[in-house]
Amino acid sequence: MKSINKAMEISAQTTRNVLKRNSMRFAAALLAALASFVGGPNAALAAAPQHHDQVPGFYRLKVGDLEVTALFDGTGVFDPHWLNGTKATMDDVVKALHEDPHMLDVADTGFLVNTGKQLILVDAGAGTWWGGGAFGRLAGSLRSAGYTPEEVDIVLVTHLHSDHVGGLTTQDGKRVFPNADVYVAKAESDFWLSPEIAAKAPKDAQPFFQSAQAIAAPYIKAGKWHTFSGSEPIVGGMQLVPLPGHTPGHTGYEFSSKGQKILFWGDIVHALRVQLQHPEVTAIFDIDQTAAAATRHQLLPKLAREDVLIAGPHMNFPALGRLRKEGSGYSWAPVVFTDQWDKR
Ligand SMILES: [Zn+2]
Repeated sequence: MKSINKAMEISAQTTRNVLKRNSMRFAAALLAALASFVGGPNAALAAAPQHHDQVPGFYRLKVGDLEVTALFDGTGVFDPHWLNGTKATMDDVVKALHEDPHMLDVADTGFLVNTGKQLILVDAGAGTWWGGGAFGRLAGSLRSAGYTPEEVDIVLVTHLHSDHVGGLTTQDGKRVFPNADVYVAKAESDFWLSPEIAAKAPKDAQPFFQSAQAIAAPYIKAGKWHTFSGSEPIVGGMQLVPLPGHTPGHTGYEFSSKGQKILFWGDIVHALRVQLQHPEVTAIFDIDQTAAAATRHQLLPKLAREDVLIAGPHMNFPALGRLRKEGSGYSWAPVVFTDQWDKR
């Protein structure tokens, strides 16, 4: 008994000494002893299975009294050959891409605005109309955000490319948002839904016409396809912002509430790492290249100056941020994640 007591006393004394000398080393030794007890130094790490699921694809913030929710539709990669710039600029892009293969990664995003009175979707993602399967998650993201497609009252579309309207309609012609009235610029609707213009369009552009017509058809049939040609009011507190060039009736939607503004700018920028520094660089999808560049040159300085919150479908998710002047171009200041939706 005495010897055991003595041994414990020595052990305690040793422990105190060790602690005194180096408590960190002691903790490490204890952990190592524990690890070897359960079967090797990395056993605890190796035993935990990897988790492959992700946070749900939505992100909310408050703009005045509005609740704005970004809805993730998918990610993709923009091909450098889809960009048009001077040879020097494009050589730089190819070189930069070599060093950073993720430079042209893009997202696709739609946005939900809950005004308190109406639930408004701005752009609907690609659904099944933009190949590859990397897009088309918007309806799932909307459900994750606590809403159902049936609850959507209004859909505002920036333009009729299928990565923005494909989510409206299933391949077998059913309306995904059965109670929604869809609004689009008359110039946009007239262009893409015209059989005459489609017949004259180059072969590469044909799928855009075909998808626009198929996607619009069930809404037209139900009397839920509406066009606007001026600045007529559709939703209180929302202004139409014509942004022609990318497509003939490409339109932004600016919502204001309590002195705060958010602009849903459609396809003003596809490749943010290139086109913010070089607003003159256009995309081959721009129907009128000159007008697209001119619109961007007019819009970007204003947005940077006025510190307007921007919702840009192809910016990195959650596709919300602001512009800062940087050198001869601009940089993107994305919203910073917070789990408090009304703080940003
Ligand atoms: Zn697009």
